[in-house]
Amino acid sequence: MTATEVPVPITFASHDPRTGAVVGTHPVHDAAAVEAAVARAGDAAKWWGGLGFAERRRRLGEWRKALVRSIDDLARVVCDETGKPFDDARLELVLAIDHLDWAAKHAEQVLKRRTVPAGLLMSNQAASLRYAPIGVVGVIGPWNYPVFTPMGSIVYALAAGNAVVFKPSELTPGVGTALADSLAEIVEGRALFQVVTGSGETGAALCRAPGIGKIAFTGSTATGKRVMATCAETLTPVLIECGGKDPMIVDADADLGAAADAAVWGGMSNAGQTCVGVERVYVHDAVADAFTAEVVSRARAVHPGAEFGPMTMASQSDVVRGHVQDALARGGRAVVGGVESVRPPFVDPVVILDVPEDSTAVREETFGPLLVVNRVPDVDEAVRRANATGYGLGATVFSKARGEEIATRLRCGMVSINSVISFAGIPSLPFGGVGDSGFGRIHGEDGLREFTRPQAVTRQRFALPIAVTSFRRTSRGMRALLGVVKLRHGR
Ligand code: NDP
Repeated sequence: MTATEVPVPITFASHDPRTGAVVGTHPVHDAAAVEAAVARAGDAAKWWGGLGFAERRRRLGEWRKALVRSIDDLARVVCDETGKPFDDARLELVLAIDHLDWAAKHAEQVLKRRTVPAGLLMSNQAASLRYAPIGVVGVIGPWNYPVFTPMGSIVYALAAGNAVVFKPSELTPGVGTALADSLAEIVEGRALFQVVTGSGETGAALCRAPGIGKIAFTGSTATGKRVMATCAETLTPVLIECGGKDPMIVDADADLGAAADAAVWGGMSNAGQTCVGVERVYVHDAVADAFTAEVVSRARAVHPGAEFGPMTMASQSDVVRGHVQDALARGGRAVVGGVESVRPPFVDPVVILDVPEDSTAVREETFGPLLVVNRVPDVDEAVRRANATGYGLGATVFSKARGEEIATRLRCGMVSINSVISFAGIPSLPFGGVGDSGFGRIHGEDGLREFTRPQAVTRQRFALPIAVTSFRRTSRGMRALLGVVKLRHGR
């Protein structure tokens, strides 16, 4: 090494964000280590893909039981690295286990070879379609739900017959490692689910590693664009799950107590560090005062360090402070908390009313316990404003009579009506966004297919009397074909 070269660290520590205490030390995997992991995964993928649906389902069922047995131990690792309350960590695990069960049980039905109609013109063909595993899937995950979020990719990719190499956030490497260790006990000696740890460079190495069939990325929009650019170098397909600025619409006929409860929990649980958290509320003028009063009393009753934890990533406190300052400077009215609520590593609940729509608190992802509540004259205006950001991840609607109608007018991937974030817990519903929130889907049938390559096969059952795809084609044959087309499609 020359004097000017900076030594590359070989390990890094993860910390408890509540205290700053070191909770674990992990290797920094460089490009060579990542490539070796992907090569091992390639072997495991061949083995796993060859096992067939029933055997994979059996082994994933064993993993599910092992995860249930170790819920408390895993939840402790989540708490140590994120600072979130123990029961929030357990809830994450419960939901991830439910998804694992669904993916394992439905993979065969969704992905197995099935015959499809060949159509009148090709009626001499037997056509079929199957969804084959891709091989090795790279998963890059965030820190806010370090179990639930990456597992949405990992378990669907595994159930579809792939091996996985997972790069967790550098804030939560211990969680990723614990998850991989638990499956390793069930598929002993097979590198079916490996973890590589390190910073963004390790993630970039995973995108570039030869043998990677697809990258499933969850994180910020800015990093998502970088991941796409890196994957473009090798034409590696990507699934991009990014942030959001999710709106809630409260109609005049809504159950206001339930809506306020959902707004406060949806906006402040996990300290607001939820990609599908409620960040802005549009409430019908007729009920705005009553709704706001309900929100205020509920928000005042929740406290960081009790109902939710600290900001897991220290620098996020500055973003939250900036959004609060901007909202207030532009004329917003704080009814719970204010700038002083940001006292790192904790942020107290903040509720601000009547925030101009061009404020950063309305346009950009806050990722903190700040709720903007803006009154609107009618639902049309609520929908217009809800759709006015570049993001389009989830949304919430509270309305007794018009929930579905409002939902269909929202430009986003998921909507919960009369409850909040429920779509994430329903394994049969696909999860993902549009616009700056990304593309592709985890969860559900779409989530299984996302980790496959469709393969179309058709077998000729008999030769047609009229050959039109041959140099022996005759004009008489073409006339007959055109006659059939006129009868079939021309009327
Ligand atoms: P980041 O975008 O900062 O990081 C996400 C992951 O990408 C991390 O593992 C990170 O590693 C890695 N990474 C960073 N740079 C690169 C690179 N150049 N190439 C490859 N990988 C890289 O997001 P956060 O971890 O801060 O997570 C918060 C964000 O995630 C929020 O915007 C949130 O909305 C979004 N999110 C979206 C969800 C969804 O499903 N749509 C769910 C949960 C969160 P490292 O941490 O080591 O830098």
